[in-house]
Amino acid sequence: MTKSKNHNYNPRIELSGISLAPGIAIGKSFRFKQIDLESLRNNTFPVENLNVELNRLQNSVQKSKEQLYSLQKAGVESGKKDIADIFNAHILLLSDESFLQSIRDTVKNERLNVEHILSIKISDIEQSFSNIENETVKTRLLDIQDVYQRLLRNLLEIEHVRVRPLIRKGNPILIAEHLLPSDIALLEFRKIAGVIIEEASAVSHVAIITRSFGIPAVINIPGITSLVHSESTLIIDGFEGKVIINPSSSEITSYRKKRNHFDNKIRTFKYRYICLTRDGVRVHIEANANTPGEVREAVAQGAEGVGLLRTEIYYMSLDKKPSVEEEVSFYKKIHESAEGHPVTIRLLDLGADKTLSYLQFSQEDNPQLGTRGIRYLLNNSKLLHDHLRSILMSSKFGVVKVLIPFISIVQELDFIISMINDIRIHERLDPSRIKLGIMVEIPSVLWALPLFIEKLDFLSVGTNDLIQFAFAADRENRNLDEYRRASLPILLKMVKQLVQTANAHAKEITICGESASDPATALLLIGTGIRSLSTRVNAIEPVRKEIENKTIDQANFAVHEYLRLFK
Ligand code: PEP
Ligand code: MG
Repeated sequence: MTKSKNHNYNPRIELSGISLAPGIAIGKSFRFKQIDLESLRNNTFPVENLNVELNRLQNSVQKSKEQLYSLQKAGVESGKKDIADIFNAHILLLSDESFLQSIRDTVKNERLNVEHILSIKISDIEQSFSNIENETVKTRLLDIQDVYQRLLRNLLEIEHVRVRPLIRKGNPILIAEHLLPSDIALLEFRKIAGVIIEEASAVSHVAIITRSFGIPAVINIPGITSLVHSESTLIIDGFEGKVIINPSSSEITSYRKKRNHFDNKIRTFKYRYICLTRDGVRVHIEANANTPGEVREAVAQGAEGVGLLRTEIYYMSLDKKPSVEEEVSFYKKIHESAEGHPVTIRLLDLGADKTLSYLQFSQEDNPQLGTRGIRYLLNNSKLLHDHLRSILMSSKFGVVKVLIPFISIVQELDFIISMINDIRIHERLDPSRIKLGIMVEIPSVLWALPLFIEKLDFLSVGTNDLIQFAFAADRENRNLDEYRRASLPILLKMVKQLVQTANAHAKEITICGESASDPATALLLIGTGIRSLSTRVNAIEPVRKEIENKTIDQANFAVHEYLRLFK
């Protein structure tokens, strides 16, 4: 009787989406919900009972303080004094009587709900961010913002991590409607068993970062966040793109077996030899990897270097701009993990959906076509200089391939070349350990290549943006998948042309966009003449297998068949 009652309360629900990363995850849900400040600001529901509203505030303050005390304790116990200090500062902010009194007064005098008042305060703070230069003041503002957000979360009874990393026991499954790249970078992925995102496109930055963590993930299950309670038991089947809410115990047992089998396979899987097609043509496989751990894993799987390190991910994991020393020491760890292989470090590709709380970004109507990548850096010359200097200094620890993102005009390249030369001479760096390349991701570069190529050592094709711009199909919009699928023949045609130019000038060319991580597409890219790919860490094995199973003739023929359409 009781059993069936429970059953009704927690019915088993099976839903299908799109697999973002393979594997099995079993765990309790952790709902990551964005707070919609705008609707809270616009929502001034009348407060009928003042005492009830004031009690809500009081309870939320109490709950927030308890959370902060336990976070502070966890920081102290794990020897992370800086983290403990942050939470201590938050406790002090929450104990500010004048702040609490000002909210109580507004509730009483204007009979406004607490969420509304807090959301206005947060917006005011965000507004003041835009004009502040001083790093210390900015950090303090961030702290205030964080505390107010915590109060709001507790008022609304939702779990949410926005400004500080997730610190939580167990290995929850993260479930969210949307995520921003910065949300992801702040999460402690080691502690998360799997990810479910209601809405995301498979080539969005969020999807790329999530995949790179190598945990099972499924996207595009509309409405799932409203079906899952906090702490519901979930299974993610990342092979099938399936999610089971409230699975039966026999299902949990059978999925555990499947998970253990998969984990063991990964652990025993180590490649240390080069990749050849079935008839012996050499293909270099490098990895898109952003942390020392990921680089180690990539090298263990046979990657011959780091083909793309997205430095913005490192920046996103920090809450203030790193000093040159800090940044160099991060790259040093990357070099050590790469065990002597070359490391391609891409200059910050900030702007559009990749922003940072501690740097300023202007509002743009169309940010995807706006001040992104190199354009943003050229507008922020001190940031660019420190950043480039850190990257170049790391050439002391291994070969560095500097990669320029979102480049479209040759003046941008000339500026970087002259800055590199200045820094190199000033720091007395060995030029033979520094290579320079550009991302080919804005279509005009295809035609402008003769202007660039002699000044470069290598080209790296960013198929995510190249397809987005060639087809005017926003990569963040999952409803445009059809256009991305239809782009394949044109992509092959573009890459073939690029390979011809690169070969004619004896320059290296590699593909680092997501297309290289899809085994079937990777083989077609080999058929265009490409001999170097940079893939996600967890795509190294399937891509390598596909290439090793086919001859170069098979790859060439497949491309020939596609391109016949254009004859
Ligand atoms: C690309 O555009 O293909 C690329 C690799 O860069 P990102 O995905 O970081 O924009
Ligand atoms: Mg790009």
